[in-house]
Amino acid sequence: MADENNVSMLVSEAEIKARIESLADEICAVIDNSWLVVALLRGSFIFAADLVRAMHKHGLTPKIDFMTLSSYQDGTESSRRVEITHDLNEDVIGKNILLIDDIFDTGRTLRETSKLLQSRGANEIITAVLLEKPARREVGFRPRFAGFQIPDKFVVGYGLDYANQYRTLPFIGVLEEIK
Ligand code: 5GP
Ligand code: MG
Repeated sequence: MADENNVSMLVSEAEIKARIESLADEICAVIDNSWLVVALLRGSFIFAADLVRAMHKHGLTPKIDFMTLSSYQDGTESSRRVEITHDLNEDVIGKNILLIDDIFDTGRTLRETSKLLQSRGANEIITAVLLEKPARREVGFRPRFAGFQIPDKFVVGYGLDYANQYRTLPFIGVLEEIK
């Protein structure tokens, strides 16, 4: 069952809350209302909601849009592709974009999404993630803003799922065992 009993806490609700406030401070020092916020669904929906509200405390009221991606394998891990299952409504030509995801794992999702937005004519793209697994990185860049660096463990909670469950946990935890 998707309860908390098989999840061990890694980042507490209070730690997430405090870090989101400081991330918003850092982000608001570099972006303004002309930027478009793009959040990748579904994993980042809670993080994005809390982050944009923390940004609002700095007076920021940017447009927000969403994209749903699914990654699939066409043979090997290294040829993994990212497919759009729900696209943006906003036009990105000439726009500066704050691209939000839940977790930077290999980094392929943010690399492919950044490339796509660039190919559509976006101007500057900066990335913000709640979590980063440095040990797993396979791309030549790091997220510009990252809330927490975590070990190479499968985590759930605060929007992140296992089989579309556990998203409602208010903290980030390591899934120990599937019951
Ligand atoms: P990347 O393309 O950076 O390898 O993977 C990013 C995506 O993989 C995230 O948006 C997330 O959907 C998924 N992912 C990577 N690591 C985890 C994890 O530990 N837990 C969960 N729930 N999803 C993960
Ligand atoms: Mg995801």
